[in-house]
Amino acid sequence: MFSQVFVQGLCASIVAGMVTGLGGFLIFVKRRYSQKDINFMLNAAAGVMLAASFFSLLCPSMDKILTFDPEIHVAAFWYVGAVFVGVMLVALLNALLPHEHNNMGHHGPNFSLKTAWLFIIAITLHKLPEGLAVGVAYSAEAFMSPNSLVIGIALHNIPEGLTIAISLVGAGVSKLKASLTALLIGLVQPLGAVIGLLTMDISDKIVPLGMAMAGGTLLFVVINEILPETYGVRKTNRSAFAVFLGFIFMTYIKMVLD
Ligand SMILES: [Zn+2]
Repeated sequence: MFSQVFVQGLCASIVAGMVTGLGGFLIFVKRRYSQKDINFMLNAAAGVMLAASFFSLLCPSMDKILTFDPEIHVAAFWYVGAVFVGVMLVALLNALLPHEHNNMGHHGPNFSLKTAWLFIIAITLHKLPEGLAVGVAYSAEAFMSPNSLVIGIALHNIPEGLTIAISLVGAGVSKLKASLTALLIGLVQPLGAVIGLLTMDISDKIVPLGMAMAGGTLLFVVINEILPETYGVRKTNRSAFAVFLGFIFMTYIKMVLD
């Protein structure tokens, strides 16, 4: 009943999503993770996501959308319009739903369960557009390879899963429950992927527009959710180095894999 692409995209997003659980279980590996270590991992993840959104979504869709209309201004308008819609969608979601940015850096790792949950709602929410990006990338298989995007999203799920677990343990939840919650939250990604895979069937023009949109949402997530959590004023150089490290690593993966 479902196409091969649908099944592949769904499986890839489930595996990538479950890596969040793997990150959550890292809480058993070390007794205490310092804020410095976590920030480094999250920044590297942000770099990975930046490269993934540019090289696996924004660039390939730009080339494709330019073929839509011989008038280059019209095509460019479609492109920036789609990116803008993507950004506005996440901004709207953020505005409508209550959530809190993780402020471990300012108040130490112990915060109330309510604060922890509000932070987790934010992480859960942004997993939806990430999953959507995977779904869209699979729909675009005809003109691009989705492999590096899936690897990028899976990699960045590791520190995110760990942060979820750490926030919950800091709020008094048991380590096992905390890591299982991380796993569950990771499974929001396949939900987004299904939406991406289903809507992309409508027309072949929708696919590149959807990719531009997904690229916009990912960029917004990185700029608005991941970077501000970790870009402490004190460790700017370290944060920048981690972001570049993630970016370069992902660029390499993209070049050798796709
Ligand atoms: Zn994320």
